[in-house]
Amino acid sequence: MGTPEQRLASAKSILNFEARRDANGHLAVYHLPVEDGGGTYEVAGINEKYHPDEAARLAGLIAAGKFDQAELEAIEIIAAFTDVASPWCDVFAIECYLRDCAFNRGPRGAARILQRAVDVADDGDIGPLSKAAIANRKKNPGALLDELRSAREEYERKVVHRDETSIFWKGLVNRWNKALTFAKSFIDAPAEQPIPEHAGHEHEHHDGQGVCETCGSGNDGSTKPVVNRWEPTSHQSSRNNTDIDRIIVHYTTSRNIEGSISWFKHGSPRTSAHYIVGRDGSLVQMVNDSDRAWHAGNSSMNARSIGIEHVAALGDTITAEQAKTSAALIAWLMEEYEIDKDGVIPHCCVKSTSCCGDLFKDFGGGAGRSCDVQKSALHKWMTSMGI
Ligand SMILES: [Zn+2]
Repeated sequence: MGTPEQRLASAKSILNFEARRDANGHLAVYHLPVEDGGGTYEVAGINEKYHPDEAARLAGLIAAGKFDQAELEAIEIIAAFTDVASPWCDVFAIECYLRDCAFNRGPRGAARILQRAVDVADDGDIGPLSKAAIANRKKNPGALLDELRSAREEYERKVVHRDETSIFWKGLVNRWNKALTFAKSFIDAPAEQPIPEHAGHEHEHHDGQGVCETCGSGNDGSTKPVVNRWEPTSHQSSRNNTDIDRIIVHYTTSRNIEGSISWFKHGSPRTSAHYIVGRDGSLVQMVNDSDRAWHAGNSSMNARSIGIEHVAALGDTITAEQAKTSAALIAWLMEEYEIDKDGVIPHCCVKSTSCCGDLFKDFGGGAGRSCDVQKSALHKWMTSMGI
Protein backbone atom coordinates (compact mmCIF):
# COMPACT_ATOMS: atom_id res chain seq x y z
CA MET A 1 0.00 0.00 0.00
CA GLY A 2 1.33 3.37 -0.97
CA THR A 3 1.58 6.48 1.19
CA PRO A 4 -1.32 8.95 1.27
CA GLU A 5 0.71 11.19 -1.04
CA GLN A 6 1.25 8.38 -3.53
CA ARG A 7 -2.44 7.48 -3.44
CA LEU A 8 -3.38 11.05 -4.33
CA ALA A 9 -0.61 11.39 -6.91
CA SER A 10 -1.96 8.29 -8.61
CA ALA A 11 -5.52 9.63 -8.57
CA LYS A 12 -4.31 12.98 -9.83
CA SER A 13 -2.58 11.34 -12.78
CA ILE A 14 -5.80 9.51 -13.65
CA LEU A 15 -7.69 12.78 -13.40
CA ASN A 16 -5.23 14.46 -15.73
CA PHE A 17 -5.45 11.59 -18.22
CA GLU A 18 -9.22 11.79 -18.22
CA ALA A 19 -10.05 15.43 -17.73
CA ARG A 20 -11.49 17.68 -20.38
CA ARG A 21 -10.62 21.25 -19.53
CA ASP A 22 -11.76 24.65 -20.64
CA ALA A 23 -9.55 27.38 -22.07
CA ASN A 24 -8.59 28.43 -18.53
CA GLY A 25 -7.52 24.91 -17.60
CA HIS A 26 -10.55 24.37 -15.39
CA LEU A 27 -12.31 21.02 -15.25
CA ALA A 28 -15.15 20.88 -17.78
CA VAL A 29 -18.21 18.71 -18.24
CA TYR A 30 -17.71 16.46 -21.27
CA HIS A 31 -20.81 15.49 -23.22
CA LEU A 32 -20.21 11.98 -24.47
CA PRO A 33 -20.59 10.77 -28.03
CA VAL A 34 -23.34 8.15 -28.34
CA GLU A 35 -20.88 5.47 -29.51
CA ASP A 36 -19.23 5.46 -26.12
CA GLY A 37 -21.90 3.33 -24.49
CA GLY A 38 -21.68 5.21 -21.23
CA GLY A 39 -23.89 7.93 -19.86
CA THR A 40 -24.59 11.30 -21.41
CA TYR A 41 -21.75 13.18 -19.75
CA GLU A 42 -18.73 12.80 -17.55
CA VAL A 43 -16.30 14.88 -15.53
CA ALA A 44 -12.68 13.67 -15.47
CA GLY A 45 -13.86 10.26 -16.60
CA ILE A 46 -16.39 10.10 -13.77
CA ASN A 47 -19.35 8.97 -15.81
CA GLU A 48 -22.92 9.94 -15.09
CA LYS A 49 -24.13 6.40 -15.84
CA TYR A 50 -21.84 4.63 -13.38
CA HIS A 51 -21.36 7.35 -10.77
CA PRO A 52 -24.54 9.44 -10.99
CA ASP A 53 -24.26 11.21 -7.63
CA GLU A 54 -20.58 11.99 -7.97
CA ALA A 55 -20.89 13.17 -11.58
CA ALA A 56 -23.86 15.39 -10.75
CA ARG A 57 -22.04 16.89 -7.78
CA LEU A 58 -18.94 17.68 -9.86
CA ALA A 59 -21.03 19.13 -12.68
CA GLY A 60 -22.79 21.30 -10.09
CA LEU A 61 -19.50 22.58 -8.66
CA ILE A 62 -18.26 23.41 -12.15
CA ALA A 63 -21.51 25.22 -12.98
CA ALA A 64 -21.05 27.23 -9.79
CA GLY A 65 -17.48 28.12 -10.78
CA LYS A 66 -16.01 26.14 -7.86
CA PHE A 67 -13.28 24.64 -9.99
CA ASP A 68 -10.70 24.07 -7.27
CA GLN A 69 -13.18 22.20 -5.16
CA ALA A 70 -14.36 20.15 -8.15
CA GLU A 71 -10.76 19.20 -8.88
CA LEU A 72 -10.08 18.14 -5.29
CA GLU A 73 -13.30 16.20 -4.99
CA ALA A 74 -12.70 14.48 -8.32
CA ILE A 75 -9.28 13.35 -7.13
CA GLU A 76 -10.76 11.94 -3.94
CA ILE A 77 -13.55 10.18 -5.85
CA ILE A 78 -11.00 8.58 -8.17
CA ALA A 79 -8.74 7.62 -5.25
CA ALA A 80 -11.62 6.07 -3.31
CA PHE A 81 -12.91 4.17 -6.34
CA THR A 82 -9.49 2.74 -7.11
CA ASP A 83 -8.56 1.90 -3.50
CA VAL A 84 -9.73 -1.63 -4.29
CA ALA A 85 -6.41 -2.22 -6.08
CA SER A 86 -4.32 -1.11 -3.12
CA PRO A 87 -4.12 -4.45 -1.23
CA TRP A 88 -3.22 -6.47 -4.31
CA CYS A 89 0.45 -5.52 -4.40
CA ASP A 90 2.65 -3.69 -1.92
CA VAL A 91 4.92 -2.31 -4.64
CA PHE A 92 3.47 1.11 -5.32
CA ALA A 93 4.49 1.27 -8.99
CA ILE A 94 2.32 -1.82 -9.54
CA GLU A 95 -0.50 -0.52 -7.37
CA CYS A 96 -0.41 2.73 -9.33
CA TYR A 97 -0.93 0.96 -12.66
CA LEU A 98 -3.64 -1.27 -11.21
CA ARG A 99 -5.48 1.79 -9.94
CA ASP A 100 -5.50 3.11 -13.49
CA CYS A 101 -6.83 -0.25 -14.74
CA ALA A 102 -9.50 -0.26 -12.03
CA PHE A 103 -10.67 3.19 -13.00
CA ASN A 104 -11.11 2.19 -16.64
CA ARG A 105 -12.28 -1.40 -16.39
CA GLY A 106 -13.71 -1.56 -12.89
CA PRO A 107 -12.36 -3.53 -9.93
CA ARG A 108 -13.14 -6.89 -11.50
CA GLY A 109 -11.62 -5.95 -14.85
CA ALA A 110 -8.45 -4.76 -13.12
CA ALA A 111 -8.27 -8.01 -11.13
CA ARG A 112 -8.59 -10.03 -14.33
CA ILE A 113 -5.90 -7.94 -16.06
CA LEU A 114 -3.60 -8.56 -13.09
CA GLN A 115 -4.33 -12.29 -13.15
CA ARG A 116 -3.58 -12.46 -16.86
CA ALA A 117 -0.31 -10.63 -16.27
CA VAL A 118 0.84 -13.17 -13.68
CA ASP A 119 -0.51 -16.18 -15.61
CA VAL A 120 -3.25 -17.42 -13.34
CA ALA A 121 -6.88 -18.10 -14.26
CA ASP A 122 -8.65 -14.76 -14.57
CA ASP A 123 -11.70 -15.29 -12.42
CA GLY A 124 -11.56 -11.71 -11.09
CA ASP A 125 -10.97 -12.86 -7.52
CA ILE A 126 -7.50 -12.15 -6.13
CA GLY A 127 -7.16 -15.24 -3.91
CA PRO A 128 -4.15 -17.16 -2.52
CA LEU A 129 -3.01 -18.46 -5.91
CA SER A 130 -3.04 -15.03 -7.45
CA LYS A 131 -1.29 -13.57 -4.41
CA ALA A 132 1.50 -16.13 -4.60
CA ALA A 133 2.02 -15.39 -8.29
CA ILE A 134 2.03 -11.64 -7.63
CA ALA A 135 4.52 -12.05 -4.76
CA ASN A 136 6.86 -13.83 -7.14
CA ARG A 137 6.53 -11.38 -10.02
CA LYS A 138 6.70 -8.19 -8.00
CA LYS A 139 10.41 -8.80 -7.40
CA ASN A 140 10.89 -7.32 -10.84
CA PRO A 141 8.39 -4.47 -10.94
CA GLY A 142 9.50 -3.16 -14.33
CA ALA A 143 8.86 -6.51 -15.99
CA LEU A 144 5.54 -6.94 -14.20
CA LEU A 145 4.45 -3.48 -15.34
CA ASP A 146 5.22 -4.45 -18.95
CA GLU A 147 3.19 -7.64 -18.45
CA LEU A 148 0.31 -5.58 -17.08
CA ARG A 149 0.44 -3.26 -20.08
CA SER A 150 0.25 -6.28 -22.43
CA ALA A 151 -2.48 -7.95 -20.37
CA ARG A 152 -4.49 -4.76 -20.50
CA GLU A 153 -4.44 -4.75 -24.27
CA GLU A 154 -5.22 -8.48 -24.39
CA TYR A 155 -8.15 -7.97 -22.05
CA GLU A 156 -9.50 -5.20 -24.26
CA ARG A 157 -9.28 -7.40 -27.36
CA LYS A 158 -10.55 -10.66 -25.91
CA VAL A 159 -12.99 -9.59 -23.22
CA VAL A 160 -14.20 -6.14 -24.25
CA HIS A 161 -13.88 -7.01 -27.96
CA ARG A 162 -12.30 -3.77 -28.95
CA ASP A 163 -9.43 -3.49 -31.41
CA GLU A 164 -7.97 -1.20 -34.07
CA THR A 165 -11.39 -0.91 -35.74
CA SER A 166 -12.70 1.09 -32.76
CA ILE A 167 -12.51 4.87 -32.92
CA PHE A 168 -11.33 4.73 -29.31
CA TRP A 169 -8.41 2.37 -29.90
CA LYS A 170 -5.70 4.97 -30.54
CA GLY A 171 -6.72 6.90 -27.46
CA LEU A 172 -6.71 3.74 -25.37
CA VAL A 173 -3.22 2.72 -26.45
CA ASN A 174 -1.96 6.20 -25.77
CA ARG A 175 -3.54 6.11 -22.35
CA TRP A 176 -2.14 2.69 -21.42
CA ASN A 177 1.34 3.86 -22.38
CA LYS A 178 1.14 7.14 -20.50
CA ALA A 179 -0.08 5.32 -17.39
CA LEU A 180 2.80 2.87 -17.77
CA THR A 181 5.37 5.66 -17.91
CA PHE A 182 3.82 7.29 -14.86
CA ALA A 183 3.76 4.02 -12.88
CA LYS A 184 7.39 3.31 -13.76
CA SER A 185 8.38 6.65 -12.26
CA PHE A 186 7.71 5.07 -8.85
CA ILE A 187 10.15 2.21 -9.32
CA ASP A 188 13.01 2.57 -6.86
CA ALA A 189 11.61 5.90 -5.74
CA PRO A 190 11.52 5.70 -1.97
CA ALA A 191 8.19 6.60 -0.42
CA GLU A 192 9.90 9.19 1.73
CA GLN A 193 13.40 10.48 1.74
CA PRO A 194 14.91 10.06 5.17
CA ILE A 195 15.16 13.56 6.56
CA PRO A 196 17.47 14.22 9.49
CA GLU A 197 15.73 15.22 12.68
CA HIS A 198 14.95 18.91 12.94
CA ALA A 199 16.37 19.42 9.49
CA GLY A 200 13.65 21.77 8.51
CA HIS A 201 13.13 24.08 11.36
CA GLU A 202 16.52 25.70 11.51
CA HIS A 203 15.98 28.29 8.85
CA GLU A 204 12.98 29.98 10.29
CA HIS A 205 11.69 28.67 13.56
CA HIS A 206 14.74 28.85 15.73
CA ASP A 207 14.51 32.53 16.25
CA GLY A 208 13.34 32.14 19.81
CA GLN A 209 9.64 31.95 19.19
CA GLY A 210 8.92 30.23 15.94
CA VAL A 211 6.91 27.18 15.02
CA CYS A 212 3.91 26.15 13.02
CA GLU A 213 0.57 24.48 13.54
CA THR A 214 -2.46 23.04 11.73
CA CYS A 215 -6.16 23.28 11.19
CA GLY A 216 -9.47 21.35 11.35
CA SER A 217 -11.64 20.00 8.58
CA GLY A 218 -14.98 20.04 7.02
CA ASN A 219 -17.45 20.25 9.88
CA ASP A 220 -19.38 22.88 11.73
CA GLY A 221 -16.80 23.35 14.42
CA SER A 222 -19.04 21.99 17.14
CA THR A 223 -16.67 19.22 18.22
CA LYS A 224 -12.97 19.31 18.85
CA PRO A 225 -11.24 16.64 16.76
CA VAL A 226 -9.69 13.80 18.74
CA VAL A 227 -6.17 14.53 19.96
CA ASN A 228 -4.25 11.32 19.28
CA ARG A 229 -1.24 12.21 21.40
CA TRP A 230 -0.51 14.63 24.19
CA GLU A 231 3.16 15.62 24.21
CA PRO A 232 3.43 18.38 26.79
CA THR A 233 6.39 20.71 26.57
CA SER A 234 7.88 23.23 28.96
CA HIS A 235 8.30 25.62 26.03
CA GLN A 236 5.27 27.72 26.94
CA SER A 237 4.18 30.65 29.09
CA SER A 238 1.08 32.45 30.28
CA ARG A 239 -1.11 34.43 27.92
CA ASN A 240 -1.48 37.01 30.69
CA ASN A 241 -5.22 37.10 30.07
CA THR A 242 -4.87 38.03 26.41
CA ASP A 243 -7.88 36.93 24.34
CA ILE A 244 -7.30 34.45 21.53
CA ASP A 245 -8.22 36.02 18.19
CA ARG A 246 -5.76 34.53 15.69
CA ILE A 247 -5.01 31.08 14.35
CA ILE A 248 -1.58 30.87 12.76
CA VAL A 249 -0.92 28.18 10.19
CA HIS A 250 2.59 26.76 9.84
CA TYR A 251 4.46 23.94 8.18
CA THR A 252 7.30 22.06 9.83
CA THR A 253 9.64 22.06 6.79
CA SER A 254 10.31 18.36 7.48
CA ARG A 255 8.30 15.18 7.12
CA ASN A 256 9.57 13.86 10.42
CA ILE A 257 6.86 14.46 13.00
CA GLU A 258 8.93 12.88 15.79
CA GLY A 259 11.72 15.31 15.06
CA SER A 260 9.32 18.23 15.37
CA ILE A 261 7.86 16.94 18.65
CA SER A 262 11.32 16.43 20.07
CA TRP A 263 12.45 19.86 18.90
CA PHE A 264 9.54 21.55 20.62
CA LYS A 265 10.55 19.83 23.85
CA HIS A 266 14.31 19.98 23.76
CA GLY A 267 15.41 22.29 20.95
CA SER A 268 17.29 25.50 21.43
CA PRO A 269 16.28 28.24 21.06
CA ARG A 270 13.10 27.06 22.70
CA THR A 271 10.05 26.97 20.43
CA SER A 272 6.71 25.16 20.37
CA ALA A 273 3.23 25.01 18.90
CA HIS A 274 -0.16 24.13 20.32
CA TYR A 275 -0.83 21.47 17.71
CA ILE A 276 0.96 19.39 15.10
CA VAL A 277 -1.03 17.67 12.36
CA GLY A 278 0.72 14.66 10.84
CA ARG A 279 0.60 13.84 7.15
CA ASP A 280 -1.58 10.86 8.08
CA GLY A 281 -4.07 13.18 9.78
CA SER A 282 -2.99 12.35 13.33
CA LEU A 283 -3.29 15.19 15.81
CA VAL A 284 -0.67 15.97 18.45
CA GLN A 285 -1.21 18.64 21.09
CA MET A 286 1.74 20.06 23.02
CA VAL A 287 0.43 23.22 24.71
CA ASN A 288 -3.00 23.93 26.17
CA ASP A 289 -5.00 26.46 24.22
CA SER A 290 -5.15 28.57 27.36
CA ASP A 291 -1.36 28.90 27.41
CA ARG A 292 1.01 30.72 25.10
CA ALA A 293 3.03 28.60 22.70
CA TRP A 294 6.12 30.03 21.05
CA HIS A 295 5.44 29.67 17.36
CA ALA A 296 4.93 33.04 15.71
CA GLY A 297 8.32 34.64 16.23
CA ASN A 298 6.52 37.53 17.89
CA SER A 299 5.67 37.63 21.58
CA SER A 300 2.48 39.67 21.43
CA MET A 301 1.21 37.57 18.52
CA ASN A 302 1.98 34.41 20.49
CA ALA A 303 -0.08 35.82 23.36
CA ARG A 304 -3.19 36.17 21.19
CA SER A 305 -2.88 33.18 18.86
CA ILE A 306 -3.13 29.42 18.51
CA GLY A 307 -0.31 27.89 16.47
CA ILE A 308 -0.94 24.89 14.25
CA GLU A 309 1.97 23.07 12.62
CA HIS A 310 1.49 20.89 9.56
CA VAL A 311 4.05 18.20 8.92
CA ALA A 312 5.32 18.91 5.40
CA ALA A 313 8.60 19.45 3.61
CA LEU A 314 9.16 22.27 1.16
CA GLY A 315 7.18 21.37 -1.96
CA ASP A 316 4.66 19.23 -0.11
CA THR A 317 1.02 20.19 -0.34
CA ILE A 318 -1.37 19.34 2.48
CA THR A 319 -2.51 15.70 2.31
CA ALA A 320 -6.19 14.76 2.21
CA GLU A 321 -5.99 13.19 5.67
CA GLN A 322 -4.11 16.15 7.06
CA ALA A 323 -6.61 18.54 5.52
CA LYS A 324 -9.46 16.70 7.19
CA THR A 325 -7.97 16.92 10.68
CA SER A 326 -6.67 20.42 10.18
CA ALA A 327 -9.98 21.76 8.91
CA ALA A 328 -11.86 20.10 11.80
CA LEU A 329 -9.44 21.69 14.25
CA ILE A 330 -9.59 25.17 12.69
CA ALA A 331 -13.39 25.06 12.47
CA TRP A 332 -13.58 24.08 16.13
CA LEU A 333 -11.08 26.74 17.25
CA MET A 334 -12.94 29.42 15.28
CA GLU A 335 -16.18 28.40 16.94
CA GLU A 336 -14.70 28.04 20.40
CA TYR A 337 -12.83 31.35 20.48
CA GLU A 338 -15.12 33.30 18.14
CA ILE A 339 -12.41 33.92 15.59
CA ASP A 340 -13.54 35.00 12.14
CA LYS A 341 -11.99 33.73 8.94
CA ASP A 342 -9.84 36.83 8.61
CA GLY A 343 -8.19 35.82 11.86
CA VAL A 344 -6.86 32.60 10.33
CA ILE A 345 -3.53 33.51 8.78
CA PRO A 346 -0.35 31.94 7.49
CA HIS A 347 2.81 32.53 9.48
CA CYS A 348 4.24 34.77 6.73
CA CYS A 349 1.63 37.40 7.64
CA VAL A 350 3.29 37.79 11.04
CA LYS A 351 6.93 37.89 10.03
CA SER A 352 9.13 37.40 7.02
CA THR A 353 9.21 33.62 6.46
CA SER A 354 8.35 31.10 3.75
CA CYS A 355 5.90 29.47 6.21
CA CYS A 356 3.37 27.92 5.53
CA GLY A 357 5.33 26.76 2.51
CA ASP A 358 3.56 24.94 -0.28
CA LEU A 359 0.71 23.53 1.81
CA PHE A 360 -1.90 25.36 -0.27
CA LYS A 361 -0.10 25.47 -3.58
CA ASP A 362 -3.09 23.85 -5.26
CA PHE A 363 -5.07 26.93 -4.23
CA GLY A 364 -2.62 29.45 -5.60
CA GLY A 365 -0.24 29.73 -2.65
CA GLY A 366 3.37 28.70 -2.36
CA ALA A 367 6.58 29.18 -0.41
CA GLY A 368 7.97 32.66 -0.92
CA ARG A 369 4.65 34.17 -1.98
CA SER A 370 3.37 37.28 -0.22
CA CYS A 371 1.15 37.33 2.86
CA ASP A 372 -1.83 38.30 0.68
CA VAL A 373 -1.31 35.43 -1.77
CA GLN A 374 -0.66 32.80 0.92
CA LYS A 375 -3.60 34.02 2.98
CA SER A 376 -5.91 33.95 -0.02
CA ALA A 377 -4.80 30.37 -0.83
CA LEU A 378 -5.33 29.33 2.79
CA HIS A 379 -8.83 30.80 2.75
CA LYS A 380 -9.68 29.16 -0.58
CA TRP A 381 -8.62 25.84 0.89
CA MET A 382 -10.78 26.52 3.97
CA THR A 383 -13.74 27.25 1.70
CA SER A 384 -13.13 23.97 -0.10
CA MET A 385 -13.25 22.24 3.29
CA GLY A 386 -16.58 23.83 4.12
CA ILE A 387 -15.25 26.51 6.49
ZN1 LIG B 1 5.83 28.87 10.74
